[in-house]
Amino acid sequence: MTSLYLSPYLRPFRRDGRVVYDNGITGDVDELDPVEHEIVRALWGARDTAAVLVRLAAAHGEEALAAGVAGLTGRMMLFGDRAQCDLAFDALLDGSTPPVPFLDQIELTNRCPFRCGFCPRGIPGKLQRPVGFMDLALFERLLGQLHPMQARYRPLELHHLGESLLHPEVDRFVAAASARGLPTELSLNPRCWSRTWAGGCSRRGSAGW
Ligand code: SF4
Repeated sequence: MTSLYLSPYLRPFRRDGRVVYDNGITGDVDELDPVEHEIVRALWGARDTAAVLVRLAAAHGEEALAAGVAGLTGRMMLFGDRAQCDLAFDALLDGSTPPVPFLDQIELTNRCPFRCGFCPRGIPGKLQRPVGFMDLALFERLLGQLHPMQARYRPLELHHLGESLLHPEVDRFVAAASARGLPTELSLNPRCWSRTWAGGCSRRGSAGW
């Protein structure tokens, strides 16, 4: 084993106090054994996978590592390289471009009080389009038009060029997505964070922050 490619279509979450992995390629939700879990944790975001494997082999032994890799490979969580992973995902899509595209982000608002220099929203005068809040009814109509396998693709990001926590109904947007089985994520500026917002969104089902 010199290199491995961890599937980017894995979504870890807690179920009954245990970490499980939702696999976007197979649609399965699996619990991993301790070595498998270590492999996934170690490879997550790793650039030098060969070095990671050497470290894992030293910690767990070659045999246990090989068994863990085989278990993950068999469940399409781990691949020899990115091309193999892409092939598996293409097969899921039947090798064709879906008639309805998958969606990464929905911008709830383009209002933002911050002025980050790398962001078109943050540079005065850069973003020319009108500033406002998305209407919940429009959002719900949009959810009704998503690809039926959107939930398996990846969490829906409820943000783009704006601070979503400024939207007075952000928790209702999260709830509307959750009601359709769609996991959501929010990227936000910590200065807008509060326990009230956090509790409201978590109760309504946001998967990540
Ligand atoms: S949208 Fe985000 S990145 Fe852009 S200015 Fe606001 S806080 Fe900064």
